[in-house]
Amino acid sequence: MFATLSDRLTSTFKNLRTKGRLSEADIDATVREIRRALLDADVAVPVVRSFTGAVRERALSAEVSGALNPAQQIVKIVNEELVAILGGDTRTLNLAKTPPTVILLAGLQGAGKTTLAGKLALHLKAQGHTPLLVAADLQRPNAVTQLQVVGERAGVPVFAPHPGNQGSDDVLPFGADPVGVARAGLETAHQRQHDVLIVDTAGRLGVDADLMQQASDIRDAVNPDEILFVIDAMIGQDAVTTAQAFADGVGFTGVVLSKLDGDARGGAALSVASVTGRPIMYASTGEKLTDFEVFHPDRMASRILDMGDVLTLIEQAEKNFDAEQTEKMAGKLAAGEDFTLEDFLEQMNQLKKMGSMKKMFGMLPGMGQMREALDNFDEREVDRIEAIIRSMTPAERQNPKIINGSRRSRIAAGSGTTTTAINQLLERFDGAQKMMKQMAKGGGMPGMPGMGN
Ligand code: GDP
Repeated sequence: MFATLSDRLTSTFKNLRTKGRLSEADIDATVREIRRALLDADVAVPVVRSFTGAVRERALSAEVSGALNPAQQIVKIVNEELVAILGGDTRTLNLAKTPPTVILLAGLQGAGKTTLAGKLALHLKAQGHTPLLVAADLQRPNAVTQLQVVGERAGVPVFAPHPGNQGSDDVLPFGADPVGVARAGLETAHQRQHDVLIVDTAGRLGVDADLMQQASDIRDAVNPDEILFVIDAMIGQDAVTTAQAFADGVGFTGVVLSKLDGDARGGAALSVASVTGRPIMYASTGEKLTDFEVFHPDRMASRILDMGDVLTLIEQAEKNFDAEQTEKMAGKLAAGEDFTLEDFLEQMNQLKKMGSMKKMFGMLPGMGQMREALDNFDEREVDRIEAIIRSMTPAERQNPKIINGSRRSRIAAGSGTTTTAINQLLERFDGAQKMMKQMAKGGGMPGMPGMGN
């Protein structure tokens, strides 16, 4: 996400590192590079102008700091300005004083609204809410069924007109009246005491008057506490005009950036918050329901500047890690026991539960420099490793040193891999084992690359 922009900005700062002091010309050159990087990333022109203006002014008047060298000072300023254009503080959902809280989703067709409805429902359910999804997108064939599928995956009920819901109480004779569906959905939420109602609305391929009218009619029928405008981060410069049209036509209280997993330039999405004055609240980062994050402007800025997003990483870990398992492992290492291939497999599986490895590694500081390796990382690698370890005998897992040539061939055949793959795994395991020993001795986590000045 924002890979190109991130690469461009970090290489700009790298050029400054050797400088002891920055002249006005140095600052101007840097600001010019930042401007070009932002424009190339599709950030809207007025946003670029005010951004670079602020950076230049602050850099020129920056006091000489004992703590920060000039490059770090510029990074700090750029970071703070990025946080500002991304909306400043993290904005949480506005909950209604008397439930249900009504959330209306608006945006163009294909923006990712239906997918987001499921993600948001799952997220809120995990927080103890009892959401109800409403399928008020009757425009697109299959939209209702799609929401039902998403609802089922999230384990959240869906209120929908037929077809597709036979045999349930929720079969209603609305035909093509999305406003009626939304209204009846709200009544149902009251009756069944759902504390959140998420209304999925129809989009079109482009902005048009009918679309705005329908969304406004639904809005007036359900009186939402939040209207979330969902926008595909990959749509480039059109993002700003689309966002403006929705702001004028329906109005919205927050923005959701979707498809942030794509390697699009993404900069237009960065402009949306500052052009519309509405905060980005969530980010959608893939097709799976768990590919969803609360949007934190400060963390996103630090990811863009390749300073890592360790906080999000830790949160993902907390959500998915098996604490008991982790404790057991720590105890074992502290007791001086060896880290075995079984443990290695266990750890890989725990990591896998956290979602895409590529995404996780990408959140570590300094990883931008390893982008190519990350891009080539094959998620199926974990499955291969698992197959290899499962093809070993308990004795081999306990003590890999006994794995000689003929054992290697047997394991390769058993796991459907090659002896080269076995060798690579054993080498990698050896490294991990050494690292674990070092950590157990109290060395802590070995330093991450890229954290230096
Ligand atoms: P809607 O028309 O606004 O309801 O959009 P959908 O939810 O149907 O999404 C359109 C397409 O984009 C579907 O194929 C989704 O699977 C896909 N999609 C939605 N969100 C994301 C995302 O965050 N990342 C990726 N890669 N695909 C997404």
